Amino acid sequence: MSLYPPTLVRLIRELSRLPGIGEKTAERLAMHLLRSPRVQAENLADSIRDARTAMRLCSLCFGLADAELCPVCAKPDRNTGVACVVEQPSDLVALERSGAVSGRYHVLGGILSPMNGVGPTDLRLRELFARVDSGEVSEVLVAVSPSVEGEATAAFIREKLSGRARVTRIATGIPVGGDLKYMDGLTLRRAIDNRQEL
Ligand SMILES: [Zn+2]
Repeated sequence: MSLYPPTLVRLIRELSRLPGIGEKTAERLAMHLLRSPRVQAENLADSIRDARTAMRLCSLCFGLADAELCPVCAKPDRNTGVACVVEQPSDLVALERSGAVSGRYHVLGGILSPMNGVGPTDLRLRELFARVDSGEVSEVLVAVSPSVEGEATAAFIREKLSGRARVTRIATGIPVGGDLKYMDGLTLRRAIDNRQEL
């Protein structure tokens, strides 16, 4: 039998379900919430509920949005002719933080992986091709991860869009600060393949 009252037990249990939060941390967080000003705890509860209620997918790129368009697609200064294809919304945010992408995005929701039963119809590829066919997008920049599955996904997109749009792929290779002797074969191969004139 728990030494805490049931309402507190429930709070600790819910907190301990969060990633990286063990029982002890959940207990500490719960105590903190009880000690902090009431309004602070209520703001936390409200923000969780509001985010869950409002969150939807951008009707254009399938990134996270709480309106018809996500914050990136809603920006007036984007190069709308370029769609940067990523796997997940978190990849979109990482690329956007880098400031390197001037176009809009397209979140696939994964990559092709026959081994795991993920085929073309499981991804938002049809929606990507529709953006090309509508004339909105003229360049598709494939920015999925450089893995065997990622390369297969890029090749599939390239083949399907052949003659319909320019399809480009992010260059990959040795990361800044990386050490050659720790690189895997695929990374080294891509680094050599994507070499530039000096
Ligand atoms: Zn969007």
